[in-house]
Amino acid sequence: MTSRYPNLFSPLKLRNITLKNRICSTGHDTCLATHTIPGEALAAYHRSRAEGGAGLIVIEVAGVHESSRYTADMILATDDRCIPGYRQIADACHDSGCVVIGQLFHPGREILAAPGGTAPVAYSSSATPNERFHVMPRELPKKILQEIVTGFGEGAARLTGAGLDGVEIVASHGYLPDQFLNPRVNFRQDEYGGSLEGRLRFLRECISAIREAVGDKLIGMRISGDSFDPDGLRREEMIEICAALDGDGELDYFSVTAGSSATLSGSIHIAAPMGGFDNAYVAPLGKVMREALSKPVMVTGRITLPSIAEEVLSRGEADICGMTRAMICDPELANKAREDRADEIRECIGCNQACIGHMHLGYPISCIQYPESGRELKYRRRLAAPKPRTVWVVGGGPGGLKAAAVSSERGHAVTLFEKSDQLGGQALLAQRLPGRADFGGLVTNLEKELRRAGVAVQTKTEVTSAQIRAEAPDAVILATGARPRTVEIPGLDEAHVLRAWDVITGKERAGKSVVVADWRCDWIGLGVAEQLARDGCRVRLCVNGMMPGHTIQQYVRDPWLGRMHELGVEVIPLVRLHGVDSDTVYFQHTTSGGPLLCEDVDTLVLSMGHESVCELEAELEDYPGVVKLIGDCLCPRTAEEAVLEGLEVGSTI
Ligand code: SF4
Repeated sequence: MTSRYPNLFSPLKLRNITLKNRICSTGHDTCLATHTIPGEALAAYHRSRAEGGAGLIVIEVAGVHESSRYTADMILATDDRCIPGYRQIADACHDSGCVVIGQLFHPGREILAAPGGTAPVAYSSSATPNERFHVMPRELPKKILQEIVTGFGEGAARLTGAGLDGVEIVASHGYLPDQFLNPRVNFRQDEYGGSLEGRLRFLRECISAIREAVGDKLIGMRISGDSFDPDGLRREEMIEICAALDGDGELDYFSVTAGSSATLSGSIHIAAPMGGFDNAYVAPLGKVMREALSKPVMVTGRITLPSIAEEVLSRGEADICGMTRAMICDPELANKAREDRADEIRECIGCNQACIGHMHLGYPISCIQYPESGRELKYRRRLAAPKPRTVWVVGGGPGGLKAAAVSSERGHAVTLFEKSDQLGGQALLAQRLPGRADFGGLVTNLEKELRRAGVAVQTKTEVTSAQIRAEAPDAVILATGARPRTVEIPGLDEAHVLRAWDVITGKERAGKSVVVADWRCDWIGLGVAEQLARDGCRVRLCVNGMMPGHTIQQYVRDPWLGRMHELGVEVIPLVRLHGVDSDTVYFQHTTSGGPLLCEDVDTLVLSMGHESVCELEAELEDYPGVVKLIGDCLCPRTAEEAVLEGLEVGSTI
């Protein structure tokens, strides 16, 4: 059954333990620990991936010293309170034959806030500022340096004592070990700076402390094969560093990722988004490392499908593939591949919205396509409906698709109605934005779930309240979505004014000089501005927020801001649309209230958000059956909320 993936499903020996396959969930923050302690929710999360067939799970970072707290609730391995939780995770993974390792971590200067919300006393190899968080650290005093080295050893003892198979030291992404290695950050005059030997000393001491603590268990090291940061470590430097450590013989594998937390351009690679980053784009860095090192190499970076992982392995670019977001999106990925059910895999689209997007907001991670992720304690198993009912779902956007699939899986007789000829709703439009083609995968994946669940689908069918009353289904789920918000401003009749969606679909053409008024500050304003600029228009992007893309995940937004710059789009932040005439658009500054005029304008393009399409709600007010609203029909937001509400209503109806 695994003949399609001979490399992916071949075992691999690491020191004295064997991985059953080459599929790894790499360390990633989940925000599922509570008050710095791993517990039931995190164990359930990893159990799900282990049961889904992963060969190796690396648990997220655990701080090794009080000064390592880079988020309020990150796991701390600084005392024994973490041990029961790690034991729970170890048991959960081992039950399915999955090897499990825990990361040990110190961020150094890559730190935003102390637990109480004040600016922390940040430490680094030297007092070298960080560009992204605007942190000026202190040079790490030797006393604290030694405490941190000891902390790595003691943390390793706790994790492996709890039953983990080893630990991974995080020397990637510009974190503390990297800050010691980097000659453009480390300017120390003592034995921890200067030559490569000096800059390696801190990391070597940490590794020795860990080896002493863990005996024969695994020690891996995560590194950035290239920081993609002007002052970060470069690939030739990383090869030299890794070769030196490989020669010491203490490490059992190298996990190669890319990027750096220290700059916006480097941080994008922590979770590279759709648009501009090919699948497995980090793999060539793995190959270079593999050629230079004696120990196995793991690579990560948008390896979204088993077929892509198999190619990476067969090209000799890695020994193990990190498929982290791939398994946030589909925890059963490995089993589906092994059982020749790869066509059932829900492929990650690289939107970053609910996984790292949630983490950056301090909330438990999830997935816009699979909201069960991160909510395993509540949604891991579908419970059969106590009494099968007839369910009508009105609207075939992402929320309607999910609600219909889940309701049907639970035993209801479900029919989904969509008034257009195609399922997908606004997601069909979103995939037409520049760099957002992968977003269409959301529809493809949900539609596959819908078909597998046996939902009856009627497209080109606009359902009326009279029909509902006549046929009398037991339950009606309204998922009728939203339409572009209409705005009333002076001068609309005098000017050439278009809606963003009409420009994106090519239904309307803008003139040569365009102002985009972007209230929502999401993908749409950025997308339409990019499209118009690529068409040769002069574009002024006037946004109501602090910057274009203000409301979207930063690794999606930041490269897009770079593209705006390269395309010559003029960005005007903090403005409120006030009026328009034949060649001028009038704005007000959102804080001063002062006027701001854009002159010589041919076309004003409106990206002003949406309003609900929910007429059926009032018409069904006295309907005797169940009526539920989900998604934009309930309140205009994004696909994530629509799919989650589809899951919620489908699970309870
Ligand atoms: Fe992938 Fe988006 Fe899901 Fe994150 S939220 S796992 S990027 S599909």
